[in-house]
Amino acid sequence: MRLLLVEDDPLIGQGISDALTLQGESLEWVTRGSHALHALADSDFDLVVLDLGLPDIDGLQLLADIRQRGDDLPVLILTARDQVSDRVAGLDSGADDYLVKPFDVDELRARIRALVRRRSGYSSALICYNQIKVDPSSREVFCAEKEIKLSRREYALLMEFLHHPGQVFTRDQLNERLYGWNDGVESNSLEVHIHHLRKKVGSGLIHTVRGVGYRIDPL
Ligand code: CA
Repeated sequence: MRLLLVEDDPLIGQGISDALTLQGESLEWVTRGSHALHALADSDFDLVVLDLGLPDIDGLQLLADIRQRGDDLPVLILTARDQVSDRVAGLDSGADDYLVKPFDVDELRARIRALVRRRSGYSSALICYNQIKVDPSSREVFCAEKEIKLSRREYALLMEFLHHPGQVFTRDQLNERLYGWNDGVESNSLEVHIHHLRKKVGSGLIHTVRGVGYRIDPL
């Protein structure tokens, strides 16, 4: 999962960034609205976590800009303004969910999981795809009803495919989503993770698209 965090408060931003990257999510953190617009133009994200009180652009204005471009990217707003009118304005401007500061990071994680899962077309809290069943809240993975143990990278890789059934990912896209910008990537490590993942979930799940990349079948 690749997330964009727009938050100018260094403590809150660091806390969210640490909590999410620890779980193996790839996260880009920007502190200004203008930087967020650049990041969105340059790269694909699964979700935006957006603080409303930004130093340059108002968060609601940024949200309106994103929606004006026809982008249906899920947006979760963070706000210290706990008045009802601000929440209503946020939802009216096209936010998918919101959290009022201070919030619990576990709740943030749960809301992110729910938004991304719904957008991928899964209605229940468990992600079921052929023989694979994943409980994203506990990160338990089952194949044909048997629990399998995945490394952090293998889990992140599997979730990329499950969140985008049918989509072909290039190696660069998967590396960007698995490692973000700051991690060192060894040139063949993606192939190694795919190889290990196929051994655990069965070789028929992840297809190689010759000369392009990898995908799983559409739902
Ligand atoms: Ca702020």
